This record gives sequence, C-alpha cells and structure tokens, in this order.
Amino acid sequence: MTISEIKKGVKRTLLAGTIAYSTLFATDILSNYALEEIKSQRELEEIVHEEATTLGMDPEIIKCELLNELAGESIYGGDLKNQYIYIGGLLANRKIVRHELYHIYDKHCDHDTKTKAELNYWFIEEPKAIIYSLTGLKL
Ligand SMILES: [Zn+2]
Repeated sequence: MTISEIKKGVKRTLLAGTIAYSTLFATDILSNYALEEIKSQRELEEIVHEEATTLGMDPEIIKCELLNELAGESIYGGDLKNQYIYIGGLLANRKIVRHELYHIYDKHCDHDTKTKAELNYWFIEEPKAIIYSLTGLKL
C-alpha cells in the first residue's frame, strides 16, 4: 500500500464519518416533527418517571418542567441532589425526555477540562444520547 493509497483511504473514512455524523443529527432534529407533543406538566412527569425507571434510575431525583418556549436541556451532575430536565415547544416529546435522561444516566458532565468537556459532548455524549433516544441502545 502506497502513501497516496493510505491518504485516499483516510479521506474516504473521514468523509464517511462526516456523512454518518451529520445524518445522525439531521435524523434527530427531523424526527421531532413526527412525534406526539407532551401537553401538560403532569404528562411530562409521568413520562419522566416511566423512562427513568426503564433506565434503572431513581425517578424521584429527576425534576422536570414543561416550558412554553422551545427547550430541550438538562442540568445534572454528581454533586447535585436533584437533576433537572426542561423541555418545551417542538422538543416537548418522549424522545427528548429519553435523550436528556440518558445524559444524566451516563454521567455526561464529569470532565477535567473545558476542552475535554466540549469534545466529549459533541463527539461522544451527544451522539450516544441521540442513539439512545432513537433506538433504546445503551452504548
Ligand atoms: Zn444532548
């Protein structure tokens, strides 16, 4: 194998990786349009309880809030007594609950440096949470 063949192989691998990565994020965003919207705080709490139990987590430590504006985020960490999920608008659906719960379940916040945290978030944690929310696979 020559150097130019290796370079060609690396380029193809990078291209395939970029396409797969982009497709994953695009699928995640587009799938929100087809999902049933969570309409009340009570419904959200029931879904959070159900999905947390499925993941084997203590549902009592997960606090959640349904917002009127577009939201899909969580506040979590090992030193917090309670973990929080906020969803709203287009993102008020079960898939986003599963996504945010997976971040908490898989302890996605514990990193030494900000750079390491950013890299982990975009290339490991976010794809893992998307894959779990879409397929139920725990990677
Ligand atoms: Zn996420």
